[in-house]
Amino acid sequence: MIFAAYSYLQIAGYEELRAPSAPAEAAPAQAAEAPAQEEIPVIASEAQTEAPAAQPEQGVIAAPEQEAQPTAEPAPTVDPNSPYGKALANAAARGLPEPPALDVTSWEFTLVNGDHSIGQYEPEQLAYLHQTLDETDIQTAYNGNRCPVDIRIAEALIAMGRGCKDAGLPVFLSSGYRSYGDQAANFTRVCQNNGITDGKDGAGHYITMPAGCSEHQLALCCDITDRYYAVKSADIVQSDTVEWLLAHCADYGFVQRFPAGKEDVTGVMNETWHFRYVGLEAARYMTDNHLVLEEFLALYGVE
Ligand SMILES: [Zn+2]
Repeated sequence: MIFAAYSYLQIAGYEELRAPSAPAEAAPAQAAEAPAQEEIPVIASEAQTEAPAAQPEQGVIAAPEQEAQPTAEPAPTVDPNSPYGKALANAAARGLPEPPALDVTSWEFTLVNGDHSIGQYEPEQLAYLHQTLDETDIQTAYNGNRCPVDIRIAEALIAMGRGCKDAGLPVFLSSGYRSYGDQAANFTRVCQNNGITDGKDGAGHYITMPAGCSEHQLALCCDITDRYYAVKSADIVQSDTVEWLLAHCADYGFVQRFPAGKEDVTGVMNETWHFRYVGLEAARYMTDNHLVLEEFLALYGVE
């Protein structure tokens, strides 16, 4: 289309340039009968009209360039002030690859941590995984062994558990959804057991979250281990099950939410067992670039 417009302008310009010379061709024919002396001024005058005609020629040359500019614009433009626009700029500034164009206000990106409480939030619909997993030997616990999670992550979580089982490894889904009340009781118990009041260890990292600040209340996560542990602590060794999950969780849309080395960012101690759903694209990007949810969302301007 640009080419067509360009061609048209070229042709138009060419004809425009040619037009003045047409009389010049005719003139000599007439001039042939007239004295040669008269012919000279005619040619001279044509030369003068020819000179101004060169200006349109420059204009014609410039025109295609002006026409060509709009053709570059159809490339998708991103509002630099939009979350994705910020993510592009922030990722580039940090030397990270181009981040996925995601709507970070979507449910799977809900941020819950010591600084972001969800109050008394309750999931709209829970799925009780024991019902689905009874025919497997994937074990579940908590909440009367029913292992409830937000129904929107159930399919992905079951698939991940089965993938791990298929690899010959034991899977124990120890904790999914906890209500605000459950978390409050959990917080009190863990604090009492550890002789603390703020839920934090000596380094200032949470070992239990205050009610309203736990991802378990969001129900978009699950604690997964190789077997039942009465107490899950940093002392739990890295099992083959956890190693498999680390290597494959992104393929199911999950991330290890509180990895070692990121305690100061998440505010939570290293929890090898805690996996959070964020969707396939975000999980892949976060895992490949070693970003925790706080860092990933910060790219998009979510603090
Ligand atoms: Zn957990």
